[in-house]
Amino acid sequence: MTATRVLVLNSGSSSLKYQLIDMATHNRLAQGIVERIGEGEVADHTEALRIVSAELAAAGHGLDDPRLAVIGHRAVHGGTRFTEPTLIDDEVVAEMQKLVPLAPLHNPANITGIEVARALRPDLPQVAVFDTAFHATIPEAAARYAIDAATADRFQIRRYGFHGTSHAYVSRATAALLGRAPEEVNVIVLHLGNGASASAVEQGRCVDTSMGLTPLEGLVMGTRSGDVDPAVIFHLARTGGMGIDEIDGLLNKRSGLVGLCGDNDMREIGRRIGEGDASARLAFDVYCHRIRKYVGAFTAVLGEVDAIAFTAGVGENSAAVREASMRGLGALGIELDPVRNALRSTAARVISADDSRVAVAVVPTDEELEIATQAYSLLGGRTS
Ligand code: AMP
Repeated sequence: MTATRVLVLNSGSSSLKYQLIDMATHNRLAQGIVERIGEGEVADHTEALRIVSAELAAAGHGLDDPRLAVIGHRAVHGGTRFTEPTLIDDEVVAEMQKLVPLAPLHNPANITGIEVARALRPDLPQVAVFDTAFHATIPEAAARYAIDAATADRFQIRRYGFHGTSHAYVSRATAALLGRAPEEVNVIVLHLGNGASASAVEQGRCVDTSMGLTPLEGLVMGTRSGDVDPAVIFHLARTGGMGIDEIDGLLNKRSGLVGLCGDNDMREIGRRIGEGDASARLAFDVYCHRIRKYVGAFTAVLGEVDAIAFTAGVGENSAAVREASMRGLGALGIELDPVRNALRSTAARVISADDSRVAVAVVPTDEELEIATQAYSLLGGRTS
């Protein structure tokens, strides 16, 4: 019996998400989430993985199933050390520990998930797939911040970018939708979920992205500000008397859409706009203006753009955001077809007008499938 199954684990600070995928068919055999880890019933990640293991066994897919080929772990920050999917051993875990200062919220949870899974199945190959890896090809001119070089090097400060598995998957899927090879097209990917980022992908390689050292930079997000003048922080400290953790919380948790209007769900914002709510309207406008600005910037970075792909919760579902953020871009060769844009569907689809020089598409992301594919390929498995 050939082992064609991949268990994908996404271990967050208080949740553990899993999907069991058969790479021969891309079928999801099982999926679920254990939440509120450390807040009562589920004491820790060891307990959470035991629950996952029991759920899988109950569905006839126990962790000891010989058809299980590999466990693929989502890992957030790979720094400059991990630029490819990586077979996990003790040394890799030690190197990931060293990257914790770059992602203090995310990496410890990822590492815990890895350690718990290795303890349960020490004989099974396990692969870490890093959120930053797809962006490792960004040239220095785009990756470097213009700050004192010695300080930047000492503290590993540079643009790393995130949502890499999504940008990788969606840029390839967009090429496929156009009937082209990834190496033949330039794509701007707009990943608009609760977190949001844009990337410029030139012939299959990422050349720029909106997130930076951390996932705070770039587009307006559900609760994160995206780009602000860094001097806002000095001003809040000096004039507002705010501490660094307070400012961190302000920019990461109380900004973005929620900061502007009190809601971070685009559905609710749309409903309020319908009622004439001015702050919801402004939040929507700021959000779409930022997207438009990045599309212009990344058009300049790429020189020639074949496609713009909308993905994730907002990108896949909000025709209003797509319409507003593409409005007035005719000079860049971007023309939406209003009827195509308004159609609801879960399939990848083109929403631009036939005479639009740049194809605009909605391409649902699938980060779990991408992690599974990368982990499985690393072991020499062929994917369908
Ligand atoms: P994600 O992080 O990709 O799961 O995206 C979550 C976000 O997608 C939510 O916070 C909503 O703002 C947005 N979203 C989900 N469904 C819809 C919808 N039908 N219309 C507009 N926005 C949506």
